[in-house]
Amino acid sequence: MGCRRRAPAGELLRVIAVGDGVDYNLRPDPARKLPGRGAHLHPDPACLALAQRRRAFGRALRVSGVPDTGALAEHINASTSTSGNPAGRGSQAR
Ligand SMILES: [Zn+2]
Repeated sequence: MGCRRRAPAGELLRVIAVGDGVDYNLRPDPARKLPGRGAHLHPDPACLALAQRRRAFGRALRVSGVPDTGALAEHINASTSTSGNPAGRGSQAR
């Protein structure tokens, strides 16, 4: 979404917005189970930064205002800093 590179859906991180209509938080949804409108992003800090700069989240998630990307950035940074590991961190508690 942010960088417009195409990728298989399985490689993209689903992101949803949680909020009260004014302020909202972006939350990663790696299990793709959370309800609501989702956006898809490469799990990559550069892609997140691009999406923010383009305000792509607002368009994709139909929200206005400035999103709080703290939780999402943390998730992405955590998953990219351990990219040497096979994907198997799902059971790790926050
Ligand atoms: Zn991307």
